[in-house]
Amino acid sequence: MSENSALNPSSSTGLKLTEDYIAISALQHYAYCPRQFALIHVEQVWAENRFTAEGQVLHQRVDSNEVEQRGRVRYERSVSLISQEHGLAGKMDLLEIESGEPPRYFPVEYKRGKPKIEQWDKIQLCAQALCIEEMRSVPVKEGALWYWEVRRREPVAIDLQLRNLTLSTITGARVLIESGVTPTPQVDKTRCRACSLKDICLPDAFRSDKTRQYVAEIGV
Ligand code: SF4
Repeated sequence: MSENSALNPSSSTGLKLTEDYIAISALQHYAYCPRQFALIHVEQVWAENRFTAEGQVLHQRVDSNEVEQRGRVRYERSVSLISQEHGLAGKMDLLEIESGEPPRYFPVEYKRGKPKIEQWDKIQLCAQALCIEEMRSVPVKEGALWYWEVRRREPVAIDLQLRNLTLSTITGARVLIESGVTPTPQVDKTRCRACSLKDICLPDAFRSDKTRQYVAEIGV
């Protein structure tokens, strides 16, 4: 995908989806378009375009596994994550831990695009926060998304609304995996124009083929 910063699922985490664990980066795909999620993570097709390639280069730069202490803040990069409670696994770009009583845990995710009003990047960040909370028994109240195009951080509150949205995304993704049925193309054509899978998905052809659409909808 383009603006929704799809990473090649096999290269971003080394993890494939199983019935037990969903790759954290896959939640962003589901939030962007359930059909895209199914094509990548259920049917295992993958297409790369300029946007995804740039996203991978960006993440290769931050995937250094370095740990650094600067003043009161410890910076952990490329941190492995898992949540037994939510069935999630993956990696985060950066975890900042500011010493104090209590210490402040602050996840940061790097994105190649620019800030957006949609929630899919925030869902990924919130899923990372859920993993950190479970793994380290600490609260995570906020984090940030760093956007390459504008070179700045956008603060994100890990509040109840975002947590509920993230949990419903996890549930939706899991239900889709278990059904094994790839959904029909979504209604929002603007997302299709920016999607790296459109040559595989063929949304316009699919939308005009009512028979295929009907068969897909009834899950035959
Ligand atoms: S082309 Fe459109 S419907 Fe198809 S996967 Fe991409 S966003 Fe979804």
